[in-house]
Amino acid sequence: VLIPLLGLGLAVYFYSGPGNFSEEMLRGKRVIVTGASSGIGEQMAYHLARMGAHVLLTARTEAKLQKVVDKCLDLGAASARYVSGSMESTAFAEEVVKEAENTWGGLDMLILNHIGHSFFDFFNGDVDHVRKLMETNFLSYVAMTVSALPMLKESEGSIVVVSSVSGKVASPFTAPYSATKFALEGFFSSLRHELIIENVNVSVTLCILGYINTESAVRAVSHVIKEAPAPKEECALEIIRSGALRQRELHYPASTVTPILLLRDFAPEFLDGLIRSNMRVENIKRA
Ligand code: NDP
Repeated sequence: VLIPLLGLGLAVYFYSGPGNFSEEMLRGKRVIVTGASSGIGEQMAYHLARMGAHVLLTARTEAKLQKVVDKCLDLGAASARYVSGSMESTAFAEEVVKEAENTWGGLDMLILNHIGHSFFDFFNGDVDHVRKLMETNFLSYVAMTVSALPMLKESEGSIVVVSSVSGKVASPFTAPYSATKFALEGFFSSLRHELIIENVNVSVTLCILGYINTESAVRAVSHVIKEAPAPKEECALEIIRSGALRQRELHYPASTVTPILLLRDFAPEFLDGLIRSNMRVENIKRA
């Protein structure tokens, strides 16, 4: 009873402010979306295209990116192009921003969304995997932000960071992934303070997502997580909306994410127990 009630109250609270979103806000805007070859990133590309934005998409798989770009052009994007490569390298992260500068001469929104592959399993002690994942899921976000900030300052633009409940509350079987998402919160929340102190009008939106029905997430966790996933199309739209409205944080779906965050502060041990009891732990096979 407690969780739905808290959820309802906070959903009302968090959704009462940003009532004035209009898709026109994105028309003609120059937007980079990372991790745009599949999942939530792909859906964000389609929404932005429909809204008439210029999109620069990136991921590793060129064939998939080409298809997403073609669909974006069909949907009405002002322009659509891609750069393929791996975000394990900060040099590639910088190259993507350079491409935006060379093509558009500016940037309005930077949507950081990609993640490298990680395992949903007991932590196996692989320190190299943790380091690699920090590079892909965290350091490349920092590198892109550093390169993009001069253009974003010029346009008074937005940085949108796609994170997770796992970046606020740890669950089992996600130790390296969770670490990268917690790092995002620390870095980008500190940066937000500094931008405000320096009167720089660049917004930083942190998106705290629950379980979403992307192919990769369902494949990785559906045998363990009992709850039903939320739709990726709506999730993608909410991320764009929160960025356009320069919200501090997005909780999606609010009905599950917001109560979890409240319990984290008021009843952490109760929440830990709840997290474990909502998993079919017996379905995790130890390597
Ligand atoms: P997907 O696995 O569907 O997409 C990941 C994207 O990242 C793909 O485009 C992939 O393309 C790209 N990618 C993977 N490895 C690299 C790499 N080394 N360098 C560059 N790009 C790479 O993920 P989701 O859509 O499910 O997740 C999107 C975001 O949402 C992530 O930040 C995730 O943490 C967050 N989130 C998702 C949840 C969910 O339940 N789905 C829950 C909470 C948060 P390619 O393989 O071609 O490189």
